[in-house]
Parts: sequence; structure tokens; C-alpha cells
Amino acid sequence: MRIVLMGPPGAGKGTQAPRLAEKINAHHISTGDMLRAETAAGTELGLMAKKFMDAGDLVPDQVMIDMIAAQMATQTAVGGPGADTEPGIILDGFPRTLAQAEALDEALQATGGAIDAAIMLDVERDELVRRLAGRATCANCKAPYHLTFSPPSKEGVCDNCGGNLVQRPDDQPEAVRHRLHVYDDQTAPVLDYYRAKDKLTVIDGAGAPDDVFKLLLAAARR
Ligand SMILES: [Zn+2]
Repeated sequence: MRIVLMGPPGAGKGTQAPRLAEKINAHHISTGDMLRAETAAGTELGLMAKKFMDAGDLVPDQVMIDMIAAQMATQTAVGGPGADTEPGIILDGFPRTLAQAEALDEALQATGGAIDAAIMLDVERDELVRRLAGRATCANCKAPYHLTFSPPSKEGVCDNCGGNLVQRPDDQPEAVRHRLHVYDDQTAPVLDYYRAKDKLTVIDGAGAPDDVFKLLLAAARR
């Protein structure tokens, strides 16, 4: 079972992916975690990726693709040759672009495999903005708040010390909307790609985490 878990920032992938992996006995492959591990281990791929990240650039498609291919080959080898004994894989944060999605399929085809399902956690734009844009911090004691989900008892004032609550510029609603727009531009073609192959399931990610997980599990077992 090879699943691509998709969804915009704030949709809850980071919460749901490890939980699904444990439930269906799959490896959770997070590209963010992988980049950190490869870099720390000083592998050729890791050093290459680090060069781009240190310069503030995005890691190029081909570097990401090579890294994922190597990781998936390792995971398959661990599970043994038979399909029944192979552990599943949940990809989180990859593919992010159409080029990555196509390369992933090519790499899998070379080993006789394929992506079984792409699952998209769908959350309304306004809700994502609420989740992402509500973060605030006390300027004095640094206590964290969320203006919607864990607000202070008096607006704009820290419960602990009476200090002013401040928001980072990239957590302001306009900045969050821009981040989501950029994400849409990159991933809409990836969604279309899996939809055209009849592998895309879109589930409602707006509910409580336990409810979303039930939907996710059903989609994974479809
Ligand atoms: Zn405070």
C-alpha cells in the first residue's frame, strides 16, 4: 500500500500521517524529516540539499526525487520481496509538483510498483486562515496564544503577566492567504494528475481530529 497524503498548510497532515502509518503498519515518509536526517548523516544527497537550503532556495525536484527513490528502495528491502510482507508507505510533503509526481511514478514503475491512492485533506480557505493566522505571543513573557482556539481572557492582553500580545508578520491573515495561494498554484496540477488516474480521494478535514482520522482510514482502505 503506497499512499500520498496531500493537503495545504494547516490541514492537519502532521497530526494525521503518523497516526495512519501506525494504524495500517506503514512507514511515514516525511520529506521535511528526511531532509534533516540526510543532512545530519552527511550523505551525498543530504549535502546537496543542504547547499540549496543554506542559500535560501527550494530543493530542486531531481534532488527530492532521488532522495525519495533511495528511501523507498530501502523500505521495500526491509520488508522483503513478497508483496504481502512489504510494509506500506505514506508519503507526506511529496510530491509537491507535477514533475515530482511523474518522476515518482517512473521510479515506482521501474520496480513494478505504483501509488495506490492519493488522499487530500480538504479544509476551507477561511478555516485554514483561522487555524494559521490566529497565533499570537506575549511580547513580554512569550506565552503562546491562539486568538480563536485559546484566546486570553482580555483581548490583546496576556493572562500571565498583562503584556501585549503580538503576531508575527507571516501569521497575519494577508500573509497566510498568500502562502495558501502559492501552495494552490503548485499542487493543483498534482491533484489533477491523480484525479485523472482515478486515484484521488478528497476527504473533509474540517472536523475534529478523531473524525478526520476515521474518514482518512476509510479512504486508505478503499
Ligand atoms: Zn505574558
